[in-house]
Amino acid sequence: MSDLTLILLAAGSSSRFKVPVKKQWLRIGHDPLWLFVTNRITKMFLFANIIVVAHPEELPFMQQMCDVTLVAGGETRQRSLRNALAHVTTPYVLVSDIARACIAPDLIARLIAAKEQADCIVPILGVNDTILYGDETIARESIKRVQTPQLSRTDVLRLALNTMQEYTDESSAIVAHGGTRTYVEGDIRADKITHIDDLASLECLEAPCAMTFTGNGFDIHPFEESKPMVLGGVRIDSPYGFKAHSDGDVAIHALIDALLGAACMGDIGMLFPDTDENYKNIDSKVLLQRCVAMIHHFGFVISHADITIIAQEPKVAPYKEKMRKTLAPLMHLSPARLNIKATTTEHLGFIGRKEGVGVIATASLHYFDWING
Ligand code: MG
Repeated sequence: MSDLTLILLAAGSSSRFKVPVKKQWLRIGHDPLWLFVTNRITKMFLFANIIVVAHPEELPFMQQMCDVTLVAGGETRQRSLRNALAHVTTPYVLVSDIARACIAPDLIARLIAAKEQADCIVPILGVNDTILYGDETIARESIKRVQTPQLSRTDVLRLALNTMQEYTDESSAIVAHGGTRTYVEGDIRADKITHIDDLASLECLEAPCAMTFTGNGFDIHPFEESKPMVLGGVRIDSPYGFKAHSDGDVAIHALIDALLGAACMGDIGMLFPDTDENYKNIDSKVLLQRCVAMIHHFGFVISHADITIIAQEPKVAPYKEKMRKTLAPLMHLSPARLNIKATTTEHLGFIGRKEGVGVIATASLHYFDWING
């Protein structure tokens, strides 16, 4: 039985990453970066357990993709690590940051070979550039860059992190707590991805898969008197609106379900429950914007959408163009890639009796292309 647990920290906010996709969710082939890194490192050694720490809201989607132990992160790297350590039962723990994507097997082997030499084993690299401190040149031989992964004794690391003081790596906490640290040679392939441009230099990363994902959505709302009618994000001249917990924009609701379907992210009721008072009479455009932000966050871009409004009343044709120009920008989509269609039921059924309106929608997504932007 292995005496080593792997902890991967993936709860960072990636705030220096100036694209709508969160760094952890950039696609490497099909896999989000966090899963690519997890699979890559777990192939290098037989770990007793593998723990990935992530933002609490991302855990349900991560669960669909893997069977490692997923733990909710805290507000800082250190709090995230403390949460993960609560699940560790082995005497040793290897901790790395998910943004160090291309760690090589020989670095992991060097760390494991040195595990009994100190409380914490740390990969370091020297610097080749001239280093200034203020205006003064300092001897670069004395400067070391500290990387992760670091291998620590679990009990020593737990005690060292049981403090309000924040440390940027495990070894600093362990040494401040009276523990010992030793060094192995680091590897530039373990350098951290901080900016989107850093990705191009990492040879282990393959381009995102060019596949298209399609989803469908369907919704019906009955009419309700003395309520304004909003359909496709547009105010419609009508004596009644739609009965609903929200503003009742049945077209946007079907569209949201199509988008969530394409991304495999459940449905509108899971995202915005109609029992939640926060969504009472809410403008469905706000719900669409939140859905789109989420889809971007998880690595997708919207390619196309098609909406069919099935209504005997109101007459939709005069509003179709305005709907297109209202909804397309909310999806960061050219209006030329959004189609709105209207049809009737030739007076058949409840729609034909003018009791309500039905909408079907289709949406296509592709992965954000981090190579070409
Ligand atoms: Mg609805």
